[in-house]
Amino acid sequence: MAAGPPPPPPAVASHVVLDAAAFGHNVGVFRRVVGPGVRVAAVVKGNAYGHGFDEVLPLLHPHVDAFDVVTPGEALAIRAAEARNGWSRRAVLVIGPVDATEVVDLAEAGVDVVVADPRARRWERALADAGRRLRVHVHVDSGLGREGWAPAAVGDAVAFLRDAPHLDVVGVLTHFADTEDVTEQTYARRQLRAFEQGVSALQARLAAWGRPTALERHAAASAAALVLPESRFDTVRVGISAYGIWPSRETRLSVRSLREELPVLRPALSWRVPALLVKELPAGSFVGYGCTHRCRDATRIAVFPVGYHDGYPRRVSHRAHVLVGGQRCPVLGRVMMNLIVADVTGVAELGDAPVATLLGRDGDEWVRAEDLAGWADTIAYEILTRIGAHLRREVVPDGSVR
Ligand SMILES: *Cc1c(COP(=O)(O)O)cnc(C)c1O
Repeated sequence: MAAGPPPPPPAVASHVVLDAAAFGHNVGVFRRVVGPGVRVAAVVKGNAYGHGFDEVLPLLHPHVDAFDVVTPGEALAIRAAEARNGWSRRAVLVIGPVDATEVVDLAEAGVDVVVADPRARRWERALADAGRRLRVHVHVDSGLGREGWAPAAVGDAVAFLRDAPHLDVVGVLTHFADTEDVTEQTYARRQLRAFEQGVSALQARLAAWGRPTALERHAAASAAALVLPESRFDTVRVGISAYGIWPSRETRLSVRSLREELPVLRPALSWRVPALLVKELPAGSFVGYGCTHRCRDATRIAVFPVGYHDGYPRRVSHRAHVLVGGQRCPVLGRVMMNLIVADVTGVAELGDAPVATLLGRDGDEWVRAEDLAGWADTIAYEILTRIGAHLRREVVPDGSVR
């Protein structure tokens, strides 16, 4: 049985609001930090960090030089949007795994691909059969211990490229392990030295085969681009901070000590939900599964249709607050699959149709992705990327007010 299209989002549900102006602002921060000689690529993996791939693409596209994606499908979707809308093409790089069955489509679309595992040995045959050439970047594992090859191994690992005339090596990259977790970059500097060795080893092979040795070099994600100037090379790959979020507290502290002025990043996403109902519970009432919350006093509660199915973590039960009427309202009891309950007793002006802000600003109060992450014992990256792809997304021209 064919599944058909996914069911439409319900009319009564939480929804994501994107501040269109935030993306240009945040990319502008990076342009000023890295200077004119360095290209800025936006990373739009994980459904554009949970913001919504389709909605984010037009907002970032005018501002960046390139896109980094994880899946071939994301890369082809960028090319399709460019063709559909008449946008000039940006460089697109697939940093995730690619199969031989996918390389011809990527080559035809003019998408670059990272060589980071032995699967790449099977690409030449498919490309030769189709008469297509593919631009590739080699991943050097400089100390993350993930994909790619260590400097001492990279020369032998890419030996197959000598007999792969349809693979053009145009770039080389690495990825840092620890830049956002510390305020001193000792390990990152070690990784930079390893990267340089890997680049040299790769270039020695290319020279021996009579191939071009001029390569685009790139290493820095958001944190390194901000705190480690020598990591910027030709291109920086900006993920979380393009969406207006600091990679970590340590990164913000480092930037504060490095620069005269702390750049202002503007979070692009708000997450809101209308109340289903408001009602009074008498003192002594229980709220939610497990009867884990008991109202000491008479309590006015509001019930909201959002839960862990939508990406609001169950882990934040008994810790989180939401914003209603510009005030912090504790989430009572456990977060459920599709519902949460908040204590709105203290809200002065509740109105007929109260709306809770789960993430974002309401009046003078903010709930930041970092706050929700802290309550859930995780990082903002996980909070954002888990916001349900099924939720409605609305783009507003300037979401800084409200
Ligand atoms: C996710 C990712 C980035 C972006 O990281 P941020 O910390 O979100 O800026 C850059 N490079 C690679 C290889 C990545 O996987």
